[in-house]
Amino acid sequence: MEPPVSDSKSGVLYVVATPIGNLEDLSPRAARLLGEVALIAAEDTRHTAGLLRHLGLSVPMLSLHEHNEAARVEQLDARLAAGEALALVSDAGTPLISDPGFVLVRELRARGRRVVPVPGPCALVAALSAAGLPTDRFAFQGFLPAKGAGRRGRLETLAAREETLVFYESPHRIRDTLADLATVMGDRRVVLARELTKTFETFLDGSAEALLARMEVDPDQARGEFVVMVAGAPPRQEDEAAVVEGEALLAALLAEGVGVKQAASVAARVLGGARKAWYARAQALKDAG
Ligand code: SAM
Repeated sequence: MEPPVSDSKSGVLYVVATPIGNLEDLSPRAARLLGEVALIAAEDTRHTAGLLRHLGLSVPMLSLHEHNEAARVEQLDARLAAGEALALVSDAGTPLISDPGFVLVRELRARGRRVVPVPGPCALVAALSAAGLPTDRFAFQGFLPAKGAGRRGRLETLAAREETLVFYESPHRIRDTLADLATVMGDRRVVLARELTKTFETFLDGSAEALLARMEVDPDQARGEFVVMVAGAPPRQEDEAAVVEGEALLAALLAEGVGVKQAASVAARVLGGARKAWYARAQALKDAG
C-alpha cells in the first residue's frame, strides 16, 4: 500500500467530502482536517455550522457559492500564498459534483496552488454502488433541464447512449422527469435511489411508468432527494456479441412457450433498451422459426 499523502503542507486547499445524510459517513481524515485548517469555504455557512457543531469544532468560515465564487478566488489565493491551509466544503457530498467549487479549483490549479481531494460521500457513487445496474461505464448528467421541452430534448440526445445514465433530481420534478423518461426511453429499466444514507432510504426499480404508478399509490415515494439511474440503450446492431446474447435469450424464452410480448419485456428488463426494439427482434425470431 502507498504511504498516505502528507497532510502537513501549508498553502493547500483541501476539497472535503461531507455526509449526504448520515453523519457517521464523515471520514476521520475529513474531521481532522476540518479542525486543522485556518478557514473553511462553505457553500452555506449556516449549514456547515451544524456539521462543525456536531464535531465540536469552531473554525472560521467564508461563504462560497455560485454567485460569489469567482470573486472569492483572489481572497482565497492570497491566504494560500501566505501559507495557510484551507478547506472547501459544500452542503452535502463531494464539492464540485453538481455543487460550487469548479471555478475556484480551476483558477488555483492554474496558479500552481496545491489542491488536495479528501474523498468521501457522493450521492451518485453511493446510488450506483447499490443499484444493480452496469457500472463499468456510466454517464453522470447532473440535473436535467427544469422545463419539459428542454428536459425531453436532453433525454432525446441521450437515448442512444449504451452506458448507464445517472441524473440528480429534486422531489418537485421527479414525477415530470419519470413521465418524460417513459415518453423518450419507453420501458427501459430505471432505478431510483431515494434519501440515501437516511432513515427513509429506498431503492425502487422498474419502468418509468411503473415507478410513477407506485408514486400514485404511495406519495411518500416522491419525497426527498433522488438519484435517477437509467439502463443504457440496447447494443447497436454492429455490436454482434451483445446482439447474439439478446437473441439467445429471446430464442430460449420463445422455445419455453413465452409469448413475443413477454419475451421482449424480459429482454428489455435484463439487458436494458426499448421493449419495442426487443419486440421486433423476438417477432422476427418467431417468424423465422
Ligand atoms: N455534491 C453532492 C454529491 O456529492 O452527491 C450533490 C449535490 S446536488 C446540489 C444535490 C442532489 O444530489 C440532490 O438533489 C439529489 O439529486 C442528490 N442527493 C444528495 N444527497 C442525496 C441523498 N441522500 N439521497 C439521494 N440523492 C441525493
